[in-house]
Amino acid sequence: MTITDIDVGLTDEERDIRDVTHKFAEEVVRPAGIELDRLADPADVVAADSVLWNVFEKHRQLGLSEFEGDGVDPIVAARIRYLVNEEIGWGDSGISVSLGVAGFPGMFAKLAGRPELVERFAAPGSKEIGCWAVTEPDHGSDSLAFDQPHFDDPKIRPNCIATLDGDQYVIRGQKAAWVSNGTIATVATLFCTIDPSQGFKGGGVALVPLDLPGVSRGKPLDKLGQRALNQGEIFFDDVRIPADYMVVGTEAYSAIVEMVLATANAYMGTTFVGVARAAFEHALAYSRERVQGGAPIFQHQNVKAKLFRMFSQVEAARSLARRVMLFNSTQPPQIEYSIASKTFCTQTAFDVASQALQIFGGNGLSREYPIEKLLRDARASMIEDGCNDILGLVGAEKL
Ligand SMILES: Cc1cc2nc3c(=O)[nH]c(=O)nc-3n(C[C@H](O)[C@H](O)[C@H](O)COP(=O)(O)OP(=O)(O)OC[C@H]3O[C@@H](n4cnc5c(N)ncnc54)[C@H](O)[C@@H]3O)c2cc1C
Repeated sequence: MTITDIDVGLTDEERDIRDVTHKFAEEVVRPAGIELDRLADPADVVAADSVLWNVFEKHRQLGLSEFEGDGVDPIVAARIRYLVNEEIGWGDSGISVSLGVAGFPGMFAKLAGRPELVERFAAPGSKEIGCWAVTEPDHGSDSLAFDQPHFDDPKIRPNCIATLDGDQYVIRGQKAAWVSNGTIATVATLFCTIDPSQGFKGGGVALVPLDLPGVSRGKPLDKLGQRALNQGEIFFDDVRIPADYMVVGTEAYSAIVEMVLATANAYMGTTFVGVARAAFEHALAYSRERVQGGAPIFQHQNVKAKLFRMFSQVEAARSLARRVMLFNSTQPPQIEYSIASKTFCTQTAFDVASQALQIFGGNGLSREYPIEKLLRDARASMIEDGCNDILGLVGAEKL
């Protein structure tokens, strides 16, 4: 690695896990991300013969989730989490997000603490693929902004409603094409509305197996960046689930939106440090090879100074992202810090990728070189898991 890891707290075991993950990112994730990015039809990303399934399988074989289990020191677990996220993000951010949301239903089953749900949705070796289904066709930013005045406005019309019918919930409606893993997930962590008279505040979180009668999907979404990340609509036409699959009810819904956003935003911070680092490393290597005016462009002062600024930006983002993840592992997350990490690190990834593209000159625009993909991937992250602008408003309420 070209940037030394100056984190003095790491143990030998943690460094080993980082290095094994780096190898996986370099040999499996990055080449797969490039291959998937180039596919013209997003349906091919998830075709039966897609390299994506090889990535999922090799990721399972790495067994990184065992460091999340009971009995693991939370500080150690957090350090491993930020090292792993940074490396996989360095490999490919879209794949990193796909692997991350795949574990959402398992996380909620464990949070619910009921053995039968853990058995069904989080059994060891489970091959379920999860998703986090929040965004609706009519509701993007507003469905995440839990501390804004509209959140309990009954005039807001949700697109996905769950109604209690005896010992079952009946789900009707749809989620937007932006749901990550939307067309490949086998289980949804569905954020839906139970009591529309309370607006979004009357929401709940259900674990919904996606092979139930009444579930259908849209086409995989075609988009600018993170093209390796499958996304697509999910439709619910009178889908029935046992009432105990509703793992969060209206009384806790706003608090859960806050908790999940705080957790996911901290993950995004560490992932996009990886993207920023990848862009910086490519630019540094290129600047040493490309000769102009009789010298490698690294020798030209403006290029050298630009690279040092990029290096400082990556390190500043890395420090913030790691500190927030450590904090979140030992205390209830404070959302303003998670949001600061997500917005700062994604903006840094975009800025560093943009500077890297400038250093590559015309080649930076060419699809034969790695930079334009990183720029597109970073651009998508400034909207993903909440637009950075609206996240700033949510975080500001806590200041
Ligand atoms: C790569 C990627 C992955 C994603 N993954 C998932 C996923 O797994 N699950 C899921 O459910 N969703 C997912 N999303 C959706 C994402 O969370 C939404 O796109 C995001 O919340 C913004 O919603 P929107 O696109 O509807 O934009 P809108 O909410 O329509 O916003 C449009 C513009 O208006 C601004 N705006 C909106 N409201 C306000 C306000 N009150 N004050 C000031 N400005 C405002 C926004 O900042 C933005 O610039 C993903 C998106 C991307 C890009």
